[in-house]
Amino acid sequence: MRTLSRSKQSDPKVPTMSNSQVYLDHNASAPLLAEARTSMIQAMALTGNPSSVHRHGRTLSNIVEGARRSVASISGAQPEQIVFTGSATEAITQAIVGGVHAFNFDRVIVSGGEHSAVSAAAKLTEARVETAKMLASGLIDIADLKKRLQQADIAGHRVLVAVQMVNNETGVIQPLAEVEALVGDREHMLLVDAVQGLAKLPMTFDFDACDMMAISAHKIGGPAGVGALLVKNHCDPVRIIPGGGQERGRRGGTQSAILMAGFGAAAKTYSARFDLQRAAELIDFLEERLLALCPDLVIFGKDAPRIGSVSNFALPGLKNSALMMGLDLAGISVSSGSACASGKTSRSHVLAAMGIDDELADCAIRISVGWNTQQHEIELAVAEISRIYHRQKTQGKTAAQNGKAA
Ligand code: PLP
Repeated sequence: MRTLSRSKQSDPKVPTMSNSQVYLDHNASAPLLAEARTSMIQAMALTGNPSSVHRHGRTLSNIVEGARRSVASISGAQPEQIVFTGSATEAITQAIVGGVHAFNFDRVIVSGGEHSAVSAAAKLTEARVETAKMLASGLIDIADLKKRLQQADIAGHRVLVAVQMVNNETGVIQPLAEVEALVGDREHMLLVDAVQGLAKLPMTFDFDACDMMAISAHKIGGPAGVGALLVKNHCDPVRIIPGGGQERGRRGGTQSAILMAGFGAAAKTYSARFDLQRAAELIDFLEERLLALCPDLVIFGKDAPRIGSVSNFALPGLKNSALMMGLDLAGISVSSGSACASGKTSRSHVLAAMGIDDELADCAIRISVGWNTQQHEIELAVAEISRIYHRQKTQGKTAAQNGKAA
C-alpha cells in the first residue's frame, strides 16, 4: 500500500550522477543539495562564535536563527521549539536519557522496529525498557502497546514511549495518531523519531500530541553532523549537555553556523526538489520489474501504508551479500538494511520483529530513491539484478547437474 502526500514537478536542471555511479541509498544519506553546499561555503568564510555579542557573532547568530526558522517551518514547529544537536542519534539520546532523568519515567517503551539510536539510548537509562511488538505488516502492534500502557498505569508507573514516523528499512508509516491517542495527556510522554518522514510527509509538530521529535539534516540533502530535537515547552528540562547555555540552555557547545546553514538551506529546498509522486512511480516500476523477473519476490511491508520512496525486497535464494557485492561492482549502491558504523551489515532486527525468518531476511535488499534519482538508474539496477539473479540460477543448475553426474 502506498501513501503519497504531495506531488511536485521534478526539476530538469537538477544534476544527476553518471551511469557508473548509481546511488540508490537515500535512506542511509541523501546526496548534498547544491543550495546546502553553497550556504555552508558562505558560512565557512565567516569568523567568530554565534554567541558573541559583537558584529562577527551577530552575523553568525543570524545564520543560526535563519536556519532554525527554516527547520521549524518544514516541521510545523515554532522556531523556539527547535534544539539543534549533532545528529538525530544525539537528539534521540537527549530525549530518552534526558527525559528519564528530568521526569523520572519508570518505563521506556520502544517499538520493535525502532532505529538502534532509540533502543541503545533506552538501555542507558535506569528505567525498565520494554519493546512493543510489531505486526507482520511492519506496523506497531497497537493492541500490545495499549496492554503495556495499561499495565504501567496499574503499577502507577510513568512511561516514555518512542515510536518512529517512518521505518528506515521498510518505509512503513506508523499510525502515530493512534499512538498519540493511547499515550494521551496522562502522565506518559511520546518521542517521535521523524528522521525518515522529514520533508516527505506533512509534519505538524506544534499541533501534534507528541512531546518531542527527532530529525536529521543528512536525510534531506543537508550535511551529516547536525540534527535537531523538537521539544514542547513542558520538555524544556530535557537536556544532557548543559555546557555554556547555548540553544537556550538545552544543548551546550559552540553552535556550528556552517552545519546549521546547510541544514536550513536543505530544509528550505528539499521539498521543492523531492517529488514523492515521482519517487513512488520509480519504486512501483522497480517492484513491477522485479516481480516479472521473480514471481516469488517478497516485498516487506507491502500490506501497510508505505512511503513511496523505498522498497525492501527479497529474491528468495539470492543472498543479499552476493547481490549487494554484484551491484557494487557494477557501480550501483544499495543497502541490505540500515548501515552500521563498522561498515558491515548485520541481520535486520526490523524484519526479525516482523517475524521474517532468517533465511529470507538474509536475502533482503533496500533500494531507496530521492531528489536526484532518475528512471535510467532504476533501469540499470533492474538489469544488473536480473543478470546476477540469472547467473546464480545457472550456477545453481550446473552445480546440481555436476552433483548428479558425480
Ligand atoms: N532514526 C532513523 C529512523 C534513521 O533512519 C536514522 C539514520 O539512519 C537515525 C535515526 C539516526 O540519524 P543520524 O544519522 O542523524 O544520527
